[in-house]
Amino acid sequence: MSRDPSVWGEGYIGAYPPDQFALLELLTPYPEIWAPYYTLHKLLAGVLECYRRTGNKTALEIARGIGDWVYARLSAVAPERCAEMWDTYIAGEYGGMNGSLAELYMLTGEEKYFDAAAIFDNDAVFYGLYEGRDTIVNRHANQHIPQLVGALDEYEATEDEFYLRVAENFFDIVTAHHMYATGGVGRGERFFGEDRQAENIDSDKNCECCAAYNMMKLARGLYALDPERAEYMDYYERALVNHILPSQARTKKRHMHAGVTYMLPIGPGARREYSDDLNTFTCCHGTGMENHVKYGDSVAFVTEYVNLPVAFEYEDAALGIKLTLDADFPFPEAKLTLAGEGRYDVMLRVPAWAEDELCKSGGAHFASGRYVLIEHEAGARVTCPFSFPYVPRLEYLPDTVGGKRAAALMYGPFVMCARDRSKEFITLHIEGDAADCFTPSLNREAGAFSLTGLGHEFVPLYLIGDEPYHTYFLVE
Ligand SMILES: [Zn+2]
Repeated sequence: MSRDPSVWGEGYIGAYPPDQFALLELLTPYPEIWAPYYTLHKLLAGVLECYRRTGNKTALEIARGIGDWVYARLSAVAPERCAEMWDTYIAGEYGGMNGSLAELYMLTGEEKYFDAAAIFDNDAVFYGLYEGRDTIVNRHANQHIPQLVGALDEYEATEDEFYLRVAENFFDIVTAHHMYATGGVGRGERFFGEDRQAENIDSDKNCECCAAYNMMKLARGLYALDPERAEYMDYYERALVNHILPSQARTKKRHMHAGVTYMLPIGPGARREYSDDLNTFTCCHGTGMENHVKYGDSVAFVTEYVNLPVAFEYEDAALGIKLTLDADFPFPEAKLTLAGEGRYDVMLRVPAWAEDELCKSGGAHFASGRYVLIEHEAGARVTCPFSFPYVPRLEYLPDTVGGKRAAALMYGPFVMCARDRSKEFITLHIEGDAADCFTPSLNREAGAFSLTGLGHEFVPLYLIGDEPYHTYFLVE
């Protein structure tokens, strides 16, 4: 290990000498080397954020230093070697280096930073995705998802459609063929084969929190480019209420305040394990600290889109907009009020889970995608009460557990779980329509609801604390 900083190169910043970066270039496998680019990316993303939020010039200078160091280092490596390097397992877990360097390029206009970003383009993954092929089977999930978030930054920097296409196709492939009902993905930290979710349910070893965090970041980025594709916010909502919300401990202990999880288990009888204050600190405990500001993030995009049933108030005096959403989470009743001196329109997202019921009752007239248009005339006050109906339904996985179909029980946007310590799957004998097999019971004072039926009580995953639970059920 090199202990002489004078040979570490100009601009390098880190809590350890850069030997690991050099070893990566020699194709040294994980875990002989760990995740050097993961931490470097976090530092770069952090100082860029400092600069963007506060204009702090020192922060930009540090970011430039990192950019210069990375460019000097990797531009000296043959492109074929880089492609080979990025194709290895973990690969220094470089994640969103491409995105942060593209951002540095956009802030400074210096081409070499974009060149540095593009060095991280993962040929083995990107080219196939561009053609709509699934190139992520068996790959490490959180090593790759941020690369696609970064691809959106590269698209923003260059308007090269290649980057947009790979990100869109990745999102579509993951949500169609790799996702669980919670919005989580993977077993261990890896993706597995397409449409093999049921056979890969593995006690407490599914659905790493960082992966959901980054999938949400990707969904939000794609949504910003194509806001009328309601699927992006469908995913966001799903992961927010079923993965992010349950990932935080509901109680405090002496050495655990606001503990968060690494994996969000979906196996039968699994329990959530939380970080403590000082001694456990995985990647997910880092992103876990960021996760819980997401409740306010993406609720609405002013001035046009309202996406999530989370109460908010927004006022823009210059535009004459005053928007209020009174919501009663987790219940479906809400009221949107449009006021102010401006003339403007609002698009309200109708979630995918409510579409059929609304159409059956003749209550949805979609202006665009799955959005309902609400118009506001200058000076008027428009109140728009709405309630998307929660109906029990089963969401099946594409494959089976030992020949039996497996499903999650959904109620509105919520994954409903049974508290049960058995490590064997619970079998639900469904006769007729699943909606008729479960009876809702609402406790408005406690802000909670449950479903009962077929001998079990089911509650939203986030309401379960330390006790063992079942997320998936075999259905006969
Ligand atoms: Zn993680």
